[in-house]
Amino acid sequence: MMSWGRRVMTSSLALVIPFALVLAFIALQAVTLWQARDYALRSATESAQNVQSTLRAIIERNLTLLELALAGVRDTLRIEGLEAMAPAVRNAVLFDRARSAQALGSLLVLDAHGAIRYQSGTLQPSQIDISDRSYFTAHTTGQQGTYLSAPFKSRLRHAEPSIALSQRIEGADGKFEGVVVATMDLDFFARIFREVKLGPHDALSLSMTDGTIVMRVPPMPVMTDFDRRSYANSPILQRMLSDPKPFEHTSQIDGVLRTYVHSQVGAFPLVLVVAFSVEDALAEWHERAIVVSSITLLMSIGIVTLLLALRRMLMRSYVLEETLRLAALTDPLTGLANRRAFDDVLDREWKRAIRLKIPLSLIVADGDRFKLINDTFGHAGGDLALQLIAERITRAARRPGDVSARYGGEEFAILLPNTDIDGAMTVAESIRARVDRARVTLADGRALATTVTLGVASTVPQEGGQPGDLFRRADAALYRAKAEGRNCVAAYDPDRDAAIAAGRTGTDGTRGQG
Ligand code: GH3
Ligand code: MG
Ligand code: MG
Repeated sequence: MMSWGRRVMTSSLALVIPFALVLAFIALQAVTLWQARDYALRSATESAQNVQSTLRAIIERNLTLLELALAGVRDTLRIEGLEAMAPAVRNAVLFDRARSAQALGSLLVLDAHGAIRYQSGTLQPSQIDISDRSYFTAHTTGQQGTYLSAPFKSRLRHAEPSIALSQRIEGADGKFEGVVVATMDLDFFARIFREVKLGPHDALSLSMTDGTIVMRVPPMPVMTDFDRRSYANSPILQRMLSDPKPFEHTSQIDGVLRTYVHSQVGAFPLVLVVAFSVEDALAEWHERAIVVSSITLLMSIGIVTLLLALRRMLMRSYVLEETLRLAALTDPLTGLANRRAFDDVLDREWKRAIRLKIPLSLIVADGDRFKLINDTFGHAGGDLALQLIAERITRAARRPGDVSARYGGEEFAILLPNTDIDGAMTVAESIRARVDRARVTLADGRALATTVTLGVASTVPQEGGQPGDLFRRADAALYRAKAEGRNCVAAYDPDRDAAIAAGRTGTDGTRGQG
């Protein structure tokens, strides 16, 4: 049978596996949730990329059309006799090609001083001074190619928020002769931005590479004017200009954590950004995560509770079993081993002594004049005397291998493995002396004293011998000691005791009760 300690160990170990499984289950759920989160963010990024590239294509196409229109006007300006044409014809020749550009506000041809020479849509060019506009001044200070202006409020068209594309007009000798300008209503961007379905915390923006915001949805919180609002130093802009990949960042404008999907619009100095709120993108995942982790947690707690309950039940049954087992081997009055347990130990030690060729000694002790004790002090008094003897025996035989037992009524047996006759005699004498000195006070105040007589036998067990032989010899010695006067110790003496040892033996080889 498994030992008590090993059973407790095993049942604890048996718990480790289910516990590990529970942990593995939790880990698996965590990994799955984490992957789902990743997937949610990835698919949000992908759809943002789709929206971004569609919008970018629309904007780029329209800006390119305007650029082509500007080039068309410049080409037309070189036609001989343009100046001499009737204004209506001239305007048609100059500007009709640009009609297909849907984003067009107006087309202007400015002279070298910034005065309007020709204007689309009217035969009487406006007299308003626009020579201070950047789309003009940029070219007087050396800008080559197409210039894209920051947003401004149009002076020609009722303060309509606009941006402008402009190109330089040069004479044959490369001399600055003016500027051709296409203006574009910002409403064009607002219209296409409105087509996009955004989440409550998502943002769309078109800004210039210097940080000037051209259009943003939702609008900038403090839209006082279309003054240049420079975000040139913003870390988000810096990152967008240096890293083409989407990235997460907290918005400076409203503090929302967003993923920025961005790219430049063709060769124009514009950055188009679709920024979606990370929290919104994860909202659905969040709900699922709460449900899944709650279920996982509850299940894990349930399983662990069940396991612990099972273990407790198992331990309780072990305790019960162990108690019963010990009860079956223990004498209830004295707490010593009982006869059955002792016989088992004797058998085991006998075999071990044969194997190891070591001596084995046995002491049998019998309470003296117990009939008298019972008569004088009653049965309870006799029992107290037995407990007293048992206790003194335990104190005298204290080596780890020593086993003491209550063998019969007022008889005790003490097995001393690996102890020779001298050692056994010492222990026996110690028991005798201790019992002799002992006193118990009874409930009625009377003092009870008792003595024991002990017989000792020792042998180096041999193959073929019987443990019963050792018992008979100790018993014969005890018999002689009783005859010699009690409260004394006698060692087995083959010369004197052999006959008694043989005589007092039953044919079955077991020891007779004295
Ligand atoms: P002695 O051994 O010294 O020759 O005398 P004794 O009176 O002890 O005689 P014997 O061994 O022949 O008798 C055993 C007596 O011990 C019988 C009984 O009165 C008493 N006895 C035996 N078992 C118990 C027990 O469990 N409790 C009590 N109180 N007395 C017991
Ligand atoms: Mg007796
Ligand atoms: Mg007896």
